[in-house]
Amino acid sequence: MQARMPALQSVDETTRLDIHMKLFSFFLLLAIVSSSALVATSQENFQYDLVITNARIIDGTGNPWFRAEIGIKDGRIVKVGHISPSAATAKQIIDAKNQIVAPGFIDVHTHVEDIFGNPSAENFVRMGVTSLITGNCGGSATDIAEFLGRFKEKPLAVNLATLIAHGSVRAKVMGIDDRAPTPEEQQKMDALVEQGMKDGAVGLSTGLIYVPGTYAKTDEIVELAKVAARYGGTYASHIRNEEARVVDAINEAINIGEQAKMPVEISHFKISAKALWGKSPMTIGLVKAARERGLTVTVDQYAYTASSTSLDSRMPSWVLAGGRAEGRKRLADATTRAKVFEDMKKELKERGFKDYSYAYVASYRANPEFNGKNIAEITKQVRGKQKVDEQIEQILEMYDKGGASMVYRSMSEGDVQNIMREPFTMIASDSGVREFGAGVPHPRGYGNNARVLGHYVRDLKIVTLEDAIRKMTSLPAQTFNLRDRGQVREGFAADLVIFDPATVGDKATFEQPHQYAEGFSSVIVNGQVVFDGSKMTGVMSGQPLYGNKH
Ligand SMILES: [Zn+2]
Repeated sequence: MQARMPALQSVDETTRLDIHMKLFSFFLLLAIVSSSALVATSQENFQYDLVITNARIIDGTGNPWFRAEIGIKDGRIVKVGHISPSAATAKQIIDAKNQIVAPGFIDVHTHVEDIFGNPSAENFVRMGVTSLITGNCGGSATDIAEFLGRFKEKPLAVNLATLIAHGSVRAKVMGIDDRAPTPEEQQKMDALVEQGMKDGAVGLSTGLIYVPGTYAKTDEIVELAKVAARYGGTYASHIRNEEARVVDAINEAINIGEQAKMPVEISHFKISAKALWGKSPMTIGLVKAARERGLTVTVDQYAYTASSTSLDSRMPSWVLAGGRAEGRKRLADATTRAKVFEDMKKELKERGFKDYSYAYVASYRANPEFNGKNIAEITKQVRGKQKVDEQIEQILEMYDKGGASMVYRSMSEGDVQNIMREPFTMIASDSGVREFGAGVPHPRGYGNNARVLGHYVRDLKIVTLEDAIRKMTSLPAQTFNLRDRGQVREGFAADLVIFDPATVGDKATFEQPHQYAEGFSSVIVNGQVVFDGSKMTGVMSGQPLYGNKH
């Protein structure tokens, strides 16, 4: 009713004008009254805010596709079935044109602590991702209420959940010291994890190759895991070793889950040692055996044979204790330096690599000219020689100058495919929000989901389309207790993607990663279109997602 008041007022004003203007105003008034009537109807009388027609629905459960219309109201799926949409029943109609309509993808393994500075998360949205779980690998905000509370000031295009991370909690309580916590310190860490879970974290994460997580023994983590378990959390771990000692590391994660009586989710499940390529049936077997004993164990995976992490992680963790300044002091000592060379050569040998030609620089602030080149190439360029000793010298120099982020081409295609086939494997990117054009990051941040749907489903037929979608939707939702997401189902949140199964695919490569995925014509978050097939709409309809007991 309020909308009509200004229109009536304008009639009074027009009485002073000539007849032509009166006529003009009359029609203007008609237009205003009828459009405000339309607005009134859309708010009150439309049965649906959005109806999707001509859809082949893959509902996220793994069931084969079926035809139906989807009716959406107030951000929820209210009908999956027959709807004859008309202007009277639906405010907006999207014709899916016989394409696949699936639940929006839930990426359970991301690193987006900085997302509130880049709220459209375009690299994720454009490969169909509508929900992110961050705080992985031991790094998260430590005040979860404050972190998720930022939505109020800074809405996002995607939904966001977070883990509470052991590494960040440990750093807050005891810095980056290489020692066990005192009982008081352990209590302080327990309390931080408890508060994080109360504030809505979906579980506890660890990063046991990173400083300071790597300094923790198993019992320290078990105690924290027990706290998270009381609140229905999942234990998500970047395990202690993904290389020559991957078996011990998988067993440690499973052991923590068994002691804390909580579900285990092993992050970016892989074998990063050439010496163990082809052994994935054995590592998968450890997961299967734990499941047979009754422990919920799942894994996530990105669909590439290269990993991405820091250059520092190539160095022994004892050198890194206390931070870069401390590390530099240690490396200045000739005996210590010799020990570092020895440890690094031993690691290479254990993993079955002859040198560091598998290690590519993604981003090196001190000299961006190195970006995209491998350590062997860089060493040759800088030092004229590229023996392993020179390559280690080069790595230590780059550490000294601030370190680098890296891409490591260290996995076998056969293992990637074996892991993808397992029913408990989720598809997750391990990516951050990408700044378009910046650096040479791992392409997974632009292509991961699309690569699975195009390369692995359509081209290689490693898994079916329905199963691939399940790995991106209902399985992630089940694993992290996101109970009203991950399926095309009445009552569930209307997070949906529409894509063409014939053209969906990734464009991003290791050489040119800044290329968006193809084949997606709509991405809908909580009932609103955030990507329309060619551009982000600017709509920020994402929501914070809270854990089990919230
Ligand atoms: Zn990780």
